[in-house]
Amino acid sequence: MAEITVAGLEKSYGSFTALHGIDLHVEDREFLVLLGASGCGKTTLLRCIAGLETASRGEIAIGGRRVDPLPPRARKIAMVFQNYAVFPHLTVFENIAFGLRMKKMPNAEVDEKVRRAATMMHIEQLLARYSGQLSGGQRQRVAVARALAMEPEVLLMDEPLSNLDALLRLEMRAELKGVLQESRTTTIYVTHDQVEAMSLADRIAVMHGGHIVQHASPLDVYRDPATRFVGSFIGNPPMNFLPATRTTAGWEVAGLTMPGPAIDAHTIEFAVRPEDLTPAETGLTGRVKVVEPLGAHQLVTMDVAGHHFRVVLESDLVVRPGETLRLAPRPERVRWFDPTSQTAID
Ligand code: ATP
Repeated sequence: MAEITVAGLEKSYGSFTALHGIDLHVEDREFLVLLGASGCGKTTLLRCIAGLETASRGEIAIGGRRVDPLPPRARKIAMVFQNYAVFPHLTVFENIAFGLRMKKMPNAEVDEKVRRAATMMHIEQLLARYSGQLSGGQRQRVAVARALAMEPEVLLMDEPLSNLDALLRLEMRAELKGVLQESRTTTIYVTHDQVEAMSLADRIAVMHGGHIVQHASPLDVYRDPATRFVGSFIGNPPMNFLPATRTTAGWEVAGLTMPGPAIDAHTIEFAVRPEDLTPAETGLTGRVKVVEPLGAHQLVTMDVAGHHFRVVLESDLVVRPGETLRLAPRPERVRWFDPTSQTAID
């Protein structure tokens, strides 16, 4: 069992607090993605779990065993970084074997484990090559193979695909998912790329300002963002927001009255994702500013009551800049936020 429990973890650098009392539970064999904008504390949290940083307060346990007092090598983890850390003067074989040799493992066993990891990452034909002669994608495979060869209880990955070009990144993403599904290693994966997070994760922990603001399945995070930040950070284009004012008949949003939450407030925020609106007789009315054909869909930027509003519509629909569009939000997809706390209203 390699579940990970983080309780009340704090990390300060002088007077700056990078992590504010983080509580996090990762199930055995789960693939958890830590997602957030630059500077939110993802790497710091990962480095604390790895033992490369010492937390100011709190506890970390792996498989029920307290590890925060232990040095990194006693934690049964392997880590893959953004910059690969592959040694150019060693062959691919020796790079993958590196950690096993450090453990003084017999040669026959090293050989078997290196070959197994290399096969998983489809680089068995490169074992004799020097790593300095490899492409970025191949080096990345070596770095992952080296981590897998250790058969760690926990795999920690920090933006491992960010140095690859877009196409290779897409290919490696699918491959990584396949390999990790097979090895079923408990994994924490750091990224600021929300598409990568959605595609890889069993669950996503969204970080913001040193806090975990939501910890849920990718679809839940997408459909039911816990805070306004999550709604605007996840999804491309992001969620739309409009002010809503209470009337006797319900909530008025840009001239449209609709039912909404029964809460005692004068003004709240209406939110809807760009793909959750359809042209209709009655709906939110706005002027089309820009139309961007994307092949499968078109992205339409509008002005709705003075607010920037984006919708994703079918390609076949004829939409021209300057014209007025009327769009009905799908009622089951509408969300509401409290403008003061910036959190979702149930
Ligand atoms: P990125 O995606 O840019 O790597 P991140 O979410 O991983 O960002 P961290 O690297 O965890 O962010 O940093 C969190 C905060 O802690 C940042 O504001 C950063 O400036 C600060 N920080 C990190 N390391 C140190 C350090 N050694 N000394 C002082 N501040 C630090």
